[in-house]
Amino acid sequence: MTTTPTPYDDAKAQLKRAQEILGFSDDDYELLATPRREITVAVPVKRDDGTKTVLRGYRIQHNWSRGPGKGGVRYSERVDMEEVRALAMLMTWKAALLNLPYGGAKGGIAFNPAEYSKAEIERITRRYVHELFPVIGPDIDIPAPDMGTDAQTMAWFMDTYSQAVGYTQPGIVTGKPVSLGGSLGRAEATSLGVYFTTRAALGHLGIEENDATVAVQGFGKVGRGAARFMDKAGMKVVAISDVFGAIYNADGIDTDALGEHVDETGKVVDFAGAEAMDPEELLLLDVDAVVPAAIEAVITKDNAADVKARVVVEGANGPTTGSGDAILNERGVMVVPDILANSGGVLVSYYEWVQSRDNFFWDLERVQKSQEAAMLAVWDEVVEFSKEHSVNLREAAVSMAVERVLDAHKMRGLFP
Ligand code: NAD
Repeated sequence: MTTTPTPYDDAKAQLKRAQEILGFSDDDYELLATPRREITVAVPVKRDDGTKTVLRGYRIQHNWSRGPGKGGVRYSERVDMEEVRALAMLMTWKAALLNLPYGGAKGGIAFNPAEYSKAEIERITRRYVHELFPVIGPDIDIPAPDMGTDAQTMAWFMDTYSQAVGYTQPGIVTGKPVSLGGSLGRAEATSLGVYFTTRAALGHLGIEENDATVAVQGFGKVGRGAARFMDKAGMKVVAISDVFGAIYNADGIDTDALGEHVDETGKVVDFAGAEAMDPEELLLLDVDAVVPAAIEAVITKDNAADVKARVVVEGANGPTTGSGDAILNERGVMVVPDILANSGGVLVSYYEWVQSRDNFFWDLERVQKSQEAAMLAVWDEVVEFSKEHSVNLREAAVSMAVERVLDAHKMRGLFP
């Protein structure tokens, strides 16, 4: 019987490929593939109606050879151990690729936040932090927002942790509200980075911003901002979707007007400035770039042969499965891998952590200029590595990151 590979299987396959490219031993592969610490916690919650439910929470610290664990917290029904394991491993590579002094971690709670009140989500968050208290900290593991969580979640996180230690500790999380020591530019950092890498990839193929057409899947924290930055830069964002449906306008969607519509109705569908389209078709549109910025495993062996774009920019984590990736690669579709495309979030999280520790805050221009310079430098390095080793951009990015983590392992040695 063949089983569908899990996200963790796909993540390990990427590491295996880096092993082939870099030529390190099986022992080293095992060391890099195995998460350092995996925690499962019960998160009991009192519902508003007085009943009680027990949710499952996770935190996985994949690797901390280069520094404390860093990675988001996801609230979604789809969260499970395998997904969190894969995402934690991706975080290790992402931080190393960006040369940040972090290892990788990820967490989540398996529930659908849309079915819970704000007060219930606050209680869930605070209990989860309480359960994780011994294994998180500004020098141990620093959470951040991800799918289903936001700056408010991080404020509760920071407050609960601070109550426990007895003083305000803003360095425990990133993605906090600016009023609590969050960084200017953090909220839109992932989206801005997706825009920078899309622009770089299109430029690499000789496509000017003003001539480019783009389709964006997802209109949440990543997709919404990415679509807006692209629209403002002159790209034509012809299609956008969310979990409820998709919309299309061949002349380009006005993303500000769409944002207002979504703020009012909660959905992209029924927006007056576009027509409805089949969401399944969005990633298959004949555009220059498609940007999956919602969930995992949306480009698979079943639809990769029908992708017509010249570039796939992975705004989401793991939107392309291993088998989907192989088909895109064979067909010569450029894929800007997640660990590069959406790394603006962890990069500006790092700037936020530094500011929180220094109690000295940067202006927006400094944040965004630093982000642009850092991401474009990494883009150049990845392109260079890919040419030098005749590998694709994902293989290059993962190999560069893995090499840095392995080097840290070797320099530190094995204890005892
Ligand atoms: P979010 O919860 O803010 O938004 C998710 C969006 O995806 C929503 O618009 C939702 O309606 C849409 N969506 C859900 N299921 C869909 C489907 N089947 N088809 C189309 N749209 C669908 O989450 P986010 O923070 O924007 O995260 C999106 C992805 O980006 C995740 O993979 C996350 O891990 C990754 N990511 C996020 C950040 C960050 O800073 N928020 C950083 C790096 C990577």
